[in-house]
Amino acid sequence: MDHNPADVPAQDQELVCFVCGAVAPADQRAVARLTWSRGRDGERTTWTCDRCSRDNVRSIEGKLDPAWW
Ligand SMILES: [Zn+2]
Repeated sequence: MDHNPADVPAQDQELVCFVCGAVAPADQRAVARLTWSRGRDGERTTWTCDRCSRDNVRSIEGKLDPAWW
């Protein structure tokens, strides 16, 4: 059976953190979709895991390090 990733509906796509590369386990994807932050990078949907989201918020509220962006 062929399994072409391009045929997988968006809901079943892997959640990979855009920042740290963490992957949400299949059984936690439903939860991750609620707790991770969704963003856009051109045509792509990007995800930021809950930990990186918190870190980002902290660095936005604290001092902004230009190297991050
Ligand atoms: Zn992350």
